Amino acid sequence: MLKMNNGTLDDTANTYLTMNQSDVDSKDTYSDQVARGKELWKSKHSAQFKNIRLKLDSLCVGKRRCNYCEDSVADEIEHIKPKDLYPSLAFVWGNYLFACGNCNGPKSNLFAVFNNNEVVEISRKRNDLVISPLIGEDVFINPRVENPLEFLILDLKTMNFISKPGLSDLNKKRAQYTIKILKLNTRDFLVEARKEAFNTYRDALQVYVTDKRNGKNKADLLKRQKEMESRQHPTIWAEMRRQRVRYEGINKFLLLAPELLTSAGS
Ligand SMILES: [Zn+2]
Repeated sequence: MLKMNNGTLDDTANTYLTMNQSDVDSKDTYSDQVARGKELWKSKHSAQFKNIRLKLDSLCVGKRRCNYCEDSVADEIEHIKPKDLYPSLAFVWGNYLFACGNCNGPKSNLFAVFNNNEVVEISRKRNDLVISPLIGEDVFINPRVENPLEFLILDLKTMNFISKPGLSDLNKKRAQYTIKILKLNTRDFLVEARKEAFNTYRDALQVYVTDKRNGKNKADLLKRQKEMESRQHPTIWAEMRRQRVRYEGINKFLLLAPELLTSAGS
């Protein structure tokens, strides 16, 4: 999981969101705001949401891949902070990302905050009273504003995410919670897909270096670099570069192509 690029909406889409959010906020009680947010969210497939979806699409990794798992097609607007808990964020652009159903479904309304340095799950069960959740710092890592790779490391041997060594106790809990909520290690197909993606990146790297050695022109090499930066599972490519000194088979190629360590842009 990577930090997402920033994107801004056009005026029409912004106005549409603001109008809906004002409607939600105008309700007198918290429970009414939750109910109104849910009601208005039924418009998520309306024409007004088209530009919002297009913009979220442009922020996706790979070919419209989910920003959480980086594997499946992203086709659901996910509220990073669940709208049922935070109706004041139901129609806030910065609270959205495009996710796949396999990530969005299980995450659902799960969310936790810190209370005296302890992780407290605040999701609401079916018959719970609809009252404001406990206030505290978010536990879940928000890829719209934070760089997940400052908290997580992808172990390239096991293809499992682990918390980054040296984190504070709180940040370690944030890393572990995010891995758990998104089931980043417990979906076998994801782990397998990462292994395949690793092999694809390694092969592409090898071909790049061979072509460079053989005098391939710069424009072609740049095109190849951009292609490598727009594949699915970009976290693997980021980790291959970040952890290169631990993997001689990778490092020997990157030493010959140091330009790959910085982004070619799009
Ligand atoms: Zn996903």
